[in-house]
Amino acid sequence: MTVLDAGRIGIASQALGIAEAALEASVKYAQEREAFGQKIGQFQMIQQKLADMKCRVDASRLLIYQACLAKKAAKENNGRYSMEASMAKLYASETAMYVTTEAIQIHGGMGYSKEMPLERYFRDAKITEIYEGTSEIQRMVIARSLTGLR
Ligand SMILES: Cc1cc2nc3c(=O)[nH]c(=O)nc-3n(C[C@H](O)[C@H](O)[C@H](O)COP(=O)(O)OP(=O)(O)OC[C@H]3O[C@@H](n4cnc5c(N)ncnc54)[C@H](O)[C@@H]3O)c2cc1C
Repeated sequence: MTVLDAGRIGIASQALGIAEAALEASVKYAQEREAFGQKIGQFQMIQQKLADMKCRVDASRLLIYQACLAKKAAKENNGRYSMEASMAKLYASETAMYVTTEAIQIHGGMGYSKEMPLERYFRDAKITEIYEGTSEIQRMVIARSLTGLR
């Protein structure tokens, strides 16, 4: 279980990297792609997607930093950081799925095509919700840490 705590921060970081790449590609595409005589980034519905993606990416990063700090503290006092690691893994992996889904939508048909990396980001994001413990298991770890119940 101690090994899993550390591994979960690693998977959270992998998920964050995928989400960041998808967000970066989406911002660039929104700045370049034109539809109906406008950059698609000028449409409010695209702006809303980008804003929500950015908030979740940054929140994931902060949860990962929190887990890293908890790991450091645990090393010093021989403790555990299971809840913090699970929170980072759960949120970052679900953010990666959310962000890659929205990124494909922003790219329209090109997002689905293998000519661009978006469909790979989407497939890579999904596994982060599964390995090193599924999202269901992370929620169990978090709730059990909160309540002390098993
Ligand atoms: C590409 C890949 C690489 C992997 N690499 C490794 C590795 O290097 N080392 C390693 O040890 N493992 C590895 N795994 C295994 C991985 O960790 C497991 O697939 C993962 O933990 C889920 O277990 P499972 O597949 O047996 O699913 P199951 O446990 O059968 O779960 C199926 C579904 O039931 C849900 N579920 C199960 N139990 C509960 C419960 N108590 N409450 C609520 N829902 C529940 C799950 O959340 C999931 O939705 C890898 C898997 C893949 C796909």
